[in-house]
This record gives sequence, C-alpha cells and structure tokens, in this order.
Amino acid sequence: MYTRKEIPFDPVTLSFRDKELEADFRDDFFTRNLSHFRQDLLLGCFLYAVYGILDFWIIPEIRIATWYIRFALVCPLLLGVFLFTFSRLSRRFLEPALILACFAAGAGIIAMIVMASPPGSHLYYAGLLLCLLFYFRLRFLTASILSWSIFVLYETAVLMDARTQAPILISNTFIFLSFIIAGMFLCYSMERYKRSDFLLRRTIQRKNDEILSTNRELEREVRERKQAEEENRRLQEQLFQSQKMEAVGQLAGGIAHEFNNILAAVIGYAGFLRMKMRKDDPLSSYVEKITFSGQRAARLTQDLLSFSRKQRVHPQLVKLNDIMSSVKPLLSMMIGKNVELSVSCCDTPITILADCGLLEQVLVNLASNARDAMPEGGLLKIYGDVVEMTDEFTHSHGTARAGRYARITVADRGHGMDEATRTRIFEPFFTTKDVGRGTGLGLAMVYGIIKQHNGFLDVTSMPGEGTTFRIYLPLAGPSLVPFPEETPEAAASATWQ
Ligand code: ADP
Ligand code: MG
Repeated sequence: MYTRKEIPFDPVTLSFRDKELEADFRDDFFTRNLSHFRQDLLLGCFLYAVYGILDFWIIPEIRIATWYIRFALVCPLLLGVFLFTFSRLSRRFLEPALILACFAAGAGIIAMIVMASPPGSHLYYAGLLLCLLFYFRLRFLTASILSWSIFVLYETAVLMDARTQAPILISNTFIFLSFIIAGMFLCYSMERYKRSDFLLRRTIQRKNDEILSTNRELEREVRERKQAEEENRRLQEQLFQSQKMEAVGQLAGGIAHEFNNILAAVIGYAGFLRMKMRKDDPLSSYVEKITFSGQRAARLTQDLLSFSRKQRVHPQLVKLNDIMSSVKPLLSMMIGKNVELSVSCCDTPITILADCGLLEQVLVNLASNARDAMPEGGLLKIYGDVVEMTDEFTHSHGTARAGRYARITVADRGHGMDEATRTRIFEPFFTTKDVGRGTGLGLAMVYGIIKQHNGFLDVTSMPGEGTTFRIYLPLAGPSLVPFPEETPEAAASATWQ
C-alpha cells in the first residue's frame, strides 16, 4: 500500500518507478481499453473516409491526391491496426501500432494542407484538432509526444508555405496549442486517476488473495485440529475399551479360577456320592442333577477363563485351510438347513501358530451368532486370505503390529447391530438374546482366544445389513505364503459378490 507522500510514479512522465509495476500497468491499461481502441480505430476510419466529401467542395483541385491519401493509405492503415488488435501479437505491439495509426492520420492531413491552396489549406487544420481527440486516448506521455510532433510538423509545413497569411497562421497556432495543452492537462489527470485506480485494484486483489490463502490455511488448520481431536477421541475410547476389557477379564478370570476349584470339589464329591449310592436310591436323581449343574457351571467358567486368557493354549503350526475344512461339517450341522454355508479356503496354504481346538471354538461361536441373527435363513460366508497391514491400519487397532496377517472373514446377512450393541459385544455376559438363549460369553471367548493368539479382530455391522467379523492372526512363516495380489479393500468389498 502506498501513502500519499510516497507516490510511486514519476510526476512528469507518470511512469511507475518500479519497472515490473509499470509493465503490469501497461498491460492492464491496454487490455482494459482494447474495446475503446477498436471503436476509435473504426470511428477514425469512418470520419477519415467521410471527410473525403469535403475534399470535393473545398479543395477539388487536389481531390484525387487527397482521396489517395485517405482511401489508399490512412483508412487501410486504420483498418489494418483494427484487425491487428485481434491478433495475439497485439498484446506486445499495440501501443506502437496505435501511435503509427494516429501519426499517419495527422501527417495525412498536414500533407493535404500543404498540397491545397488557400482558403482550403487554412481550414483543414480543423482535421488536426479532430485527430488530437483520438491521440489523448493514449497514455499521457505518448499522446504528448505525438501531438507535439504533429504540431511541429504542421508549423514547419505551414511556415514553409508562403501562401499562408500571418493572422491565419497565428490564429491556427493558438487554437492548436490550446487544444494540445488542454488535452495534455486532461490526459495527465485522467492517467493519474487510472494509475491510482490500478494501484488500488492491485492492492485490493493482493489483500484478497492474502485473505483467501489465510482462509484456506485456517480451514486446513481447523480440519487438521478436528481430525486430531477425532483421532484423540477414538484413541481414548479404544484405551478405555481395552482397559475395561482388561479389568473385566481380570475380575472374571479371578472368580472363574476360584470357582472352578470349588466346582471341581462339588463335581468330585457328587461323584463319590454316586459311587457310594445304590442305583435305585431315591436320592440318586438329586446327585445326577448336582453333577449336571456342576458340569454346566464348569463349562461357563471355562468360557470365562477363555475370555480372561487364563486357559491353556497349545499352539502348533497349522494350515488355516485344514482348520476350516475340519470345522465345516460341524458348522453346517450347527447352523441348520435354513442357513446356507459357504466356506472357501485360500488357494495358497496359510500357516499360523494356533491352537486348533480354540480356533474351531471361535468359528463355532461366530457361526452360532450368525445363525441366531438369521432366523429366517440366509447366507453365512467364511473365507480365509492373507493381508498386508499398514501401520495406519494397525494403529487404529490398538497395539497390533504392521505386517502380514492371515485373515478369517465371517460374514452373515442377518439383522445386524446398531452402534450401541456393537461397542459392547465383546463384554462378558452382554447379550441381547432372551433369558436362557444367550449367555453373553460367546464373543468374550472369541476376543480372549484371539488375543491369546496375538491377533486382533474387527467387526462391521449395520442394522438390517448383516455383520462381518474379521479375524487377523500373525503368519507363522512369511516364506510359506506368497502374498496374494488382492488388496485388503478389494477383498473386503468382495464379501458379498
Ligand atoms: P450371546 O450369543 O450369548 O448373546 P455373544 O457374546 O455371542 O453372546 O454375543 C453378544 C451379542 O452380540 C449378541 O447377543 C448379539 O446381540 C450380538 N451379536 C453377535 N454376533 C452377531 C451377529 N452375527 N449378528 C447380529 N448380532 C450379533
Ligand atoms: Mg453367542
């Protein structure tokens, strides 16, 4: 921004002191006035041609020569410059072309004055005044140089012509000078105004650009902050969730462990009682019931131990395909005829370090939930593949490490879950099923078993759109498994193809 005191242009020539600024101004000046210049060129050409009629009455003796000047030289030149304004080169050479056109128009009239005899020659200077009107559409400096050159040319021509009477010469000179000075004065103030306007527009444009870029920067910062807050919230939720699971696991595991010992005593003593009793003893049915209930309770505590990761794991190198094939008959029996089961193994063998029995238990639990979610029947898909986990993905899954994982996908088209249910499904004893139908331990077990295998799992579900569980288990030997070309996203989207 320039203050009034530090006007950035030369007060005489009006050119900006800064060369780049001056170049920008000229560019802007000629671009903005282009349509005016075109109008001027057409109007100038028209007037130059129309005044040919005057030649016929005022200076008939040289009319052929003047018409030649008008129609063979100046008018074509004006039209040529007019056409030139449409070419790409005009951006660079427009000013010289306009100067040439203006000068030619003025010089043409001076030539007519020189050739004509009085009184015609005295009258034609009016044509020069008309030309000045067009000159002063140009920049102040150019217009001044042009008009003074034409003035000098006129004066020289007229002074050399002995036929011009002194009073006429003096009067014409005075009028001519007045026109030039008034024109210069007007042109000067106009151009100063235009230059200030240009500076103002440029400053506004710059400020605007600054504001826009600051706005964009601010928007970006706000977006980033929101993302960071969102990430923070998600991580906190995750931490809270895993702390909760840890605490619940410890509590449940502690109780289950103690409870298991007590149950062992209850079942053991019930066994002794049965051994000591006669078969037909009326109390033996009570002992049977104690044993049965004790065994049920033992199964429950076993499930709780699985969740709290306190059960024994017997890991061995196994092929995922083998586990899936061996559990398939059990699953299809369990889910009933209503639900269609599709188990597809990976083409390449996937080796993992796992406890087969526990992994089968995981699949059984997931399949039984899927069956319960599709009472009317539907499709249950189970398939295995290998995925490469990026840092970003594993970061969003807590402490999981990046690398290659065996993935087991279990997807159903059941009733799905809402957000509130989805966030609680791994909690022990959380169930949405009627009393007696669900213990709420199935997924808690799944969670515990997968954690014991150093894996992780995720679930996507929408009410009415089914549920997909994905289990990720670390590969036991990367060399055993060539990485498939399919990306995790492609595999996920292929779930229901
Ligand atoms: P339970 O099956 O005894 O209810 P789970 O721990 O196996 O206990 O499951 C907990 C809850 O998670 C279920 O009650 C149900 O609401 C929900 N759930 C689990 N799997 C699915 C599924 N495939 N589709 C819909 N809801 C499910
Ligand atoms: Mg269940």
